[in-house]
Amino acid sequence: MALNQEELLRSPAVWQPRSIEEAIGMKEEWGSAAVYTAGSTLLRTQWEAGTAAMPRHLIDLGSIASLSGIREEEGAIAIGPMTTLTDCRSSGLLAEHAPLLVDAVRNIAGWSVRNLATLGGNVVYRVGDAVPALIALNAKLEWHDGSRLLFESAEEWASSSYAVPRLLTSIRIPCEEDDPTSNTKRFFAFHKVGRREAFTPSLVTVAIQGEAEEDGTLTKLRIAAGGGQTTPVRMTRAEELLLGAKPDGAGLQQAFEAVLEQYEPRTDPFATDLYRKRTAANLVVAALWSQSPSNASKG
Ligand SMILES: Cc1cc2nc3c(=O)[nH]c(=O)nc-3n(C[C@H](O)[C@H](O)[C@H](O)COP(=O)(O)OP(=O)(O)OC[C@H]3O[C@@H](n4cnc5c(N)ncnc54)[C@H](O)[C@@H]3O)c2cc1C
Repeated sequence: MALNQEELLRSPAVWQPRSIEEAIGMKEEWGSAAVYTAGSTLLRTQWEAGTAAMPRHLIDLGSIASLSGIREEEGAIAIGPMTTLTDCRSSGLLAEHAPLLVDAVRNIAGWSVRNLATLGGNVVYRVGDAVPALIALNAKLEWHDGSRLLFESAEEWASSSYAVPRLLTSIRIPCEEDDPTSNTKRFFAFHKVGRREAFTPSLVTVAIQGEAEEDGTLTKLRIAAGGGQTTPVRMTRAEELLLGAKPDGAGLQQAFEAVLEQYEPRTDPFATDLYRKRTAANLVVAALWSQSPSNASKG
């Protein structure tokens, strides 16, 4: 259907830069009148809900080939921010080195959205369900601010409050591999609780990556919790309590209390902050209880 004159005037111009530098140049020139677009699945909901205005210029990052793809690079898995959630889900490299992230993206929206939605868009969203997994995986983000590359951890990004004048150029997950000669084993858990089984916004999202000795002693542990509009945070107090210990009843009770204390979700029309706190604490404790060798068979 043809647009009338008024609609044409309101329609944004779509630009397809060929390089990161060109994209940043456009953003610098037009400022808040321009927005980077990736899969546009989040932007579209914001425009439709009226929570963000349709800008005059859309800078389509899909035209920059170097922003897509998953590769092994200097001891890390480097994921281009334009990589779709579907491609993350089917990546052999991620399945081998970061199954936690594969599990997280599998739980985001449905196929049709995941085919368009990108990991970068989810990260920039800040409360995206992939972010707790990236925090638990100790992922690093690479940004370009127009003059230089900037690096920060996913954890630092989530806890920051600045808007994004920068371009996300890479998401890097350190390669962790099981050492066949070691008696430690890596484990991970991702849990998302929503208002229905699938294709649902999250109320609470919990991601855990750890390493345990044969007897269950935890040698590494990173726990992150988010969900809804709650900024994902690392549960450092629970980690400190459990590291170096076998998660028994008393230890897990303390970890439960620590999550209640440190996780600060928001109340919204769907769930109270207390419900979310208890859910997060239960998810953390259940995941750690079930990975312990003495409890696994009872699970
Ligand atoms: C029906 C539906 C269900 C959904 N369910 C979920 C869900 O379960 N969990 C969840 O987490 N999300 C969900 N979403 C939200 C959204 O789809 C995802 O978060 C998605 O990953 C966003 O990616 P995108 O590529 O579409 O981002 P876009 O909408 O293109 O962009 C999102 C933001 O990121 C910015 N941006 C994108 N790439 C870059 C970059 N490289 N550098 C700087 N800024 C950038 C954009 O300017 C914009 O501000 C859902 C959306 C819909 C429509």
